[in-house]
Amino acid sequence: MSTVFSTPQPVLLPVAGLEDRFPVRRVYCVGRNYAAHAIEMGHDPNREAPFFFQKNPDNLLFENENFPYPPLSQDVHHEIELAVALKSGGADIDAAVALDCVYGYGVAIDFTRRDLQAEAKAAGRPWEVAKAFEHSAPISAIQPTDRIGHPSHGRIWLNVNGVIKQDGNLDQMIWKVPEIIAELSRLFVLAAGDVILTGTPAGVGAVHRGDRINCGVDGVDTLSLTVV
Ligand code: MN
Repeated sequence: MSTVFSTPQPVLLPVAGLEDRFPVRRVYCVGRNYAAHAIEMGHDPNREAPFFFQKNPDNLLFENENFPYPPLSQDVHHEIELAVALKSGGADIDAAVALDCVYGYGVAIDFTRRDLQAEAKAAGRPWEVAKAFEHSAPISAIQPTDRIGHPSHGRIWLNVNGVIKQDGNLDQMIWKVPEIIAELSRLFVLAAGDVILTGTPAGVGAVHRGDRINCGVDGVDTLSLTVV
């Protein structure tokens, strides 16, 4: 069927070791999934139900691309996160089999306009303006599970201009990857191509134009970019 204007191609992430790419359908994010980060943001670190928000697939920024500082904010923060890339989905997925849905993992940053998020929180408004802006989610190539397995522990870290800012471990996640998939699938019907950012450890902070960011998840990948 013809369309009234040309149809945009889906976002196609590189896959480590393959020519084939990973077509992105949706991007979900988990809030406050490391206790030390919940505390630094002024929240109770006790295990409350996970909550979610979304970014847009075309907010993803590919490896080797620089991050353009976004407009209308003076306080853009880095949040290093493990990304989970799904090859299948469904509704009401049992946590015991949830990892069967995972194609691979990546390293991502959930860039956040913290000042706009604070305004949204105070006004009881949604978070999109703080979270789902252009280029707000740099992400590495996807590392298939047949190369790296399912990482459940390992250092998750980020440095700015060579100074370590975030230094946590995947085993500090309040909600583990299978539980995240299970909970999310109670709210939404998940499908192949969905990418889930699983929350950030403590140490979030502001970035500035010219900053060089290096980050990674041990056993998964690294990611480097400059704020421009
Ligand atoms: Mn985040």
